[in-house]
Amino acid sequence: MMRAPLAGSGGYSDILILGAGQAGLQAAVSLREEGFDGSIRLIGEEPVLPYQRPPLSKGYLMGTASAESLVLRPRKLLEDLRIDMLCDARAVAIERAQRTLLFADGQHHSYGHLVLATGARARRWAGAGADLDNVVYLRSIADAAVLASRMTQARRAVIIGAGFVGLEFAAVAAKAGLAVDVVEAAERPMARAVSPAMSELFRRWHEQAGVAMHLKARVARLEGEDGKVARVHLDDGRMLPADLVLIGIGGVANDELAAAAGLPVEMGIVVDEMLQTADPAISAIGDCASHPNVFAACRTRIESVQNAIDQGRAVAARLAGRPRPYRAVPWFWSDQGALKLQMAGLVAGADRTVEIGSRDERRLSLLAFRNDVFVGVESVNRPADTMLARRILARPGPMTFAEVEAASFDLKALATCGPAPA
Ligand SMILES: Cc1cc2nc3c(=O)[nH]c(=O)nc-3n(C[C@H](O)[C@H](O)[C@H](O)COP(=O)(O)OP(=O)(O)OC[C@H]3O[C@@H](n4cnc5c(N)ncnc54)[C@H](O)[C@@H]3O)c2cc1C
Repeated sequence: MMRAPLAGSGGYSDILILGAGQAGLQAAVSLREEGFDGSIRLIGEEPVLPYQRPPLSKGYLMGTASAESLVLRPRKLLEDLRIDMLCDARAVAIERAQRTLLFADGQHHSYGHLVLATGARARRWAGAGADLDNVVYLRSIADAAVLASRMTQARRAVIIGAGFVGLEFAAVAAKAGLAVDVVEAAERPMARAVSPAMSELFRRWHEQAGVAMHLKARVARLEGEDGKVARVHLDDGRMLPADLVLIGIGGVANDELAAAAGLPVEMGIVVDEMLQTADPAISAIGDCASHPNVFAACRTRIESVQNAIDQGRAVAARLAGRPRPYRAVPWFWSDQGALKLQMAGLVAGADRTVEIGSRDERRLSLLAFRNDVFVGVESVNRPADTMLARRILARPGPMTFAEVEAASFDLKALATCGPAPA
């Protein structure tokens, strides 16, 4: 049923959000917070209510967070907000001319405006032995349940990929008493996301916790016994025994529906700074969206809770009639055992870093500068530095190296003086 556009709103009365994850749920809730009064349908393919993914590689595997505790909003609250939530429904086509979505069960759902929040999926490794039993990925609660149950019987875990998910699992597995090997093709862990100095610290700290790191190493094939993985062969001839293999080689945007509907995709669904696709009736947010990011000074796709939440809020504000460009300061965290890594800004391409804190105490921050301008911070167990850096980065006008140096690298002093955040 279509209703007339609401006066004072962004002109839509009927919003369908596809993908019931962090971003999709946030958009739905924020639409109501922004006063949107039309119909909101939130549709996702998973058979459960929207939940937090970060604990899947941390508390959930350690047994400190149950599946129920990860649910973001109970069904009653969604009902109270008049958010029509449909689980277990997979969209297979966007029919732009009719403004409908086709689902796998043959049903159609119409939309006045469509928000694509389809997230990302784990990149698959296609080498020999990939389909052996006990070779797993970690993206969903279903994946995490499988991994948790396999962990209880495993003695030797090999992790392919030293990114955030792989290293978080390495810390959990080592603490649970498993022998852990991490195989990484790059010369350092988390190479795409953190500075070389931070990579080096984490390499050392994981090794001190008993994790064997194999850098600049490639998996040639997996070998099984009775259908289960038993050995990982590297292309330099080394062999690692394994009864559990986690493949954590990054994420791929779920952008195929958009591409098939003729929308531009570029390692994610292309949106402008208002998070709108080439079709004014379709927006995209969260892990699936490739957006122009002022902090990266280029188009980028960010997989983080902050990005999912802030883009959900921004699209909701626009659709409710209060448009504002998406310019949130990127920030991210990763808990790897007792190491709480937090980052604010985007430090890629930094040409100068200043270290504060103590490596021995494992409490330190690296302040990063590019062309003498402060571009971000990487902190370990110093959460206040990340908060302060976010305030500084949110301000109009750059913070220079000279200013930070003059304040003896006192972030608090710099965050609390000067112009207020925009
Ligand atoms: C193990 C793990 C640990 C993480 N840890 C951290 C962390 O410590 N810090 C941090 O900031 N971020 C972390 N992240 C990243 C963070 O969880 C994601 O960035 C965030 O969940 C993105 O939200 P999203 O809504 O864009 O995508 P998702 O949460 O992936 O939601 C997308 C939803 O859309 C559904 N969907 C896709 N296609 C269709 C379709 N055709 N029809 C219907 N439904 C569809 C998917 O099944 C999914 O439910 C972690 C991610 C994982 C997997």
